[in-house]
Amino acid sequence: MRPSFQHKLIGSFLVIFTLFSVGIVVFEQRTARRYKTEALEERLDAYAGQVERYLAAGGSFDSLQHLISIMSPELRLTLVEGDGRVVYDNAVDVATMVNHAGRPEIRKAMAGGRGSDIRTSETVSKPFLYYARSHSKEDSPIVRVALPYDVQVRSFLKPGNGFLYFVIGLFVVGLGFIFYSGHYLGKAVKRLREHETRERTRRLKREMTGNIAHELRTPVTSIRGFLEIVLGNELDEARRRGYLERAYTQTQTLSELISDMSLLARIDEKSSAFEFTEIDTAELLEKVRSDASKALIEKNIAFTTDIPEGLAIRGNRSLVYSVFRNLTDNVAAHAGAGVEIRVHATVNNEFTFSDNGIGIPEEHLGRIFERFYRVGEGRTRDTGGSGLGLSIVRNAVALHGGEIRVRNLKPHGLEFSFRVG
Ligand code: ADP
Repeated sequence: MRPSFQHKLIGSFLVIFTLFSVGIVVFEQRTARRYKTEALEERLDAYAGQVERYLAAGGSFDSLQHLISIMSPELRLTLVEGDGRVVYDNAVDVATMVNHAGRPEIRKAMAGGRGSDIRTSETVSKPFLYYARSHSKEDSPIVRVALPYDVQVRSFLKPGNGFLYFVIGLFVVGLGFIFYSGHYLGKAVKRLREHETRERTRRLKREMTGNIAHELRTPVTSIRGFLEIVLGNELDEARRRGYLERAYTQTQTLSELISDMSLLARIDEKSSAFEFTEIDTAELLEKVRSDASKALIEKNIAFTTDIPEGLAIRGNRSLVYSVFRNLTDNVAAHAGAGVEIRVHATVNNEFTFSDNGIGIPEEHLGRIFERFYRVGEGRTRDTGGSGLGLSIVRNAVALHGGEIRVRNLKPHGLEFSFRVG
């Protein structure tokens, strides 16, 4: 099932709004976390400063533990020499500790005086927030302080939840608004579209009625004129017969027009009367060629086919016939004398139907499938066509699930491409 416009509208609002809310929350969390980490680092920096001052004043390693318990009982303190050797650690026996020159915070402190890192300690297997600071005096050790990165530190790092709740609240309100407005906006757009469709149908119907009246008027007026001459005048047999024959030709045009119109109406209704069968393409094309042979011979038009052997189309025989017949009749009627028709097909039933005749001026190409549309000379019927041929072709192809395209060929000629079956 295709999603309705309303659902699409709500869906896209929802995606945008969700992305926006998530973006705000992530940004806010990150910023808050950074500020809090910085604050914590400042605290650790103060501890490290105190240890440095204590050592500079000649304080011994033995009483460092006392200092630590005054500052923060959880604090871990490590003293590292310039070569990375650990000389003091309040939590671990230094004899068991590896060289610390490679630890990120120590490396940063060696390079720039300060450094921090959050990671799991390799020595005591617990996560820590490490902070190291090197003293400007050459022989002083680097002081590294760390706090376990446990619940206490984490909860300290966690930003306040107030903002999060605010955004969630906003999200819920926004969601309600989206559903409400999406619902009403969707309905309004639907009504507008329905109105547009009704208007278009009405306009098309009006145009069509006008077109039909116009198309019928020409032959009917001629017939009436010829009959009036025959009825109102004393004519010799030959002239009388001449007028009657011309009236008869016009009735043929009329009945062609009517049968084209009724075929189009049937296709429009997608009438289930169109039975689908397997059609032997080569045989069908041969029938088209032979049925149209009178006009083809008159205009000296060659008809060649290039189709895979045994190609079969699944479709309605009379409609597929009328597709090729109309295209062939059009070449005979419009493309000029001495041209060639080529019908090409692939195994996937992709057809091209081309001629090397005069083609159609580009500005008309987009409209030739419209009902009663004729190229040039103010829509007169000089070539005898109903103007419905290509509409029938397009609609018949569409009834088989295809689409027809047309283009001019170089140096001249016209090519239709479509898929049937
Ligand atoms: P018609 O009944 O006039 O043939 P169609 O709908 O079949 O109506 O064709 C529309 C117009 O397209 C024709 O009037 C003609 O001017 C033009 N046309 C169609 N096929 C060709 C062609 N093979 N070469 C040149 N012009 C063509």
